[in-house]
Amino acid sequence: MSLNNIAIIGLGLLGGSLGLAIKERLPDANTTGFDRDLDVRKRAGELGLVGTVADTASDAVSDADLVILCVPVGAMSAAASELAAALKPNAIVSDVGSSKASVSKALTEALPGATVIPAHPVAGTERSGPDAGFATLFEGRWCILTPPEGADEAAASSLRAFWEALGSTVEIMDAAHHDLVLAVTSHIPHLIAYTIVGTASDLEDVTQGEVIKYSAGGFRDFTRIAASDPTMWRDVFLSNREAVLEVLGRFSEDLTALQRAIRSGDGDTLFDLFTRTRDIRRSIIDMGQDDAAPDFGRKHD
Ligand code: NAP
Repeated sequence: MSLNNIAIIGLGLLGGSLGLAIKERLPDANTTGFDRDLDVRKRAGELGLVGTVADTASDAVSDADLVILCVPVGAMSAAASELAAALKPNAIVSDVGSSKASVSKALTEALPGATVIPAHPVAGTERSGPDAGFATLFEGRWCILTPPEGADEAAASSLRAFWEALGSTVEIMDAAHHDLVLAVTSHIPHLIAYTIVGTASDLEDVTQGEVIKYSAGGFRDFTRIAASDPTMWRDVFLSNREAVLEVLGRFSEDLTALQRAIRSGDGDTLFDLFTRTRDIRRSIIDMGQDDAAPDFGRKHD
């Protein structure tokens, strides 16, 4: 199945990066793009994120073999409905949303009879908007496809080949399992970062100035994550509610156990946990998922 004409809906960090990556790695493909925000459309044109910026979603997808929705997960249903009537009969519709079960449901309901293969490139930054996009975002990163039961296998293979051409390693997963894994590895860490940064700024005995001045003690790394796009992350928590609440329940229990250990002076419990977590950090570095440089490679001169 050849995917020569590719439409990208939503031209922010993910959509823009996708357009630039296609231009670099699949130079023969034609790309069209649409964003509901006129300023974003103008900027996408100036930056050359896609070959043609269309004025409507329908115009963007009318010739497309592959349509990729790069909008916040809460906007997937509306974005899909808007383009439904203009889709070519054999077009593949996919997305890049951070949660998968609810997006899969939204897309299949909004596009009855269409070939829907949801996807999640596990690649991003805390930045958003068209200027944040860059061509190498997906290189060496995972892309998880969650084809619904009975999905067209040829379409799934074509989508796999597409993401591999952009430099990603593809994994196929059930949508519910994806949501649980990502709740642990991405969604809860973001929630913790949002919480600790909020708590620090609310503390009455510590001034804002001190929080910023002494942030290198660990807080600074949380602030990077807590600077992530509010719309995107609001939608992630609302759409992956069940998995997030399940993991959050476990996390709260573990946190209470640590609270008890600290209160009762149980150093062994603390030491054993911290030893186990250090090993996890080592495994992540051994798997090439992060840099071993101290303080994430920051310069200290
Ligand atoms: P972004 O930079 O904010 O870009 C999203 C763009 O989509 C915005 O310009 C937005 O316009 C536009 N949009 C919203 N509703 C639309 C609609 N119905 N039709 C057309 N355009 C619409 O967000 P992003 O970071 O690229 O995230 C996009 C998707 O990628 C999300 O589903 C997110 O979960 C997923 N993702 C993000 C990351 C990450 O690290 N950022 C990583 C992996 C996956 P408005 O500003 O007017 O709403």
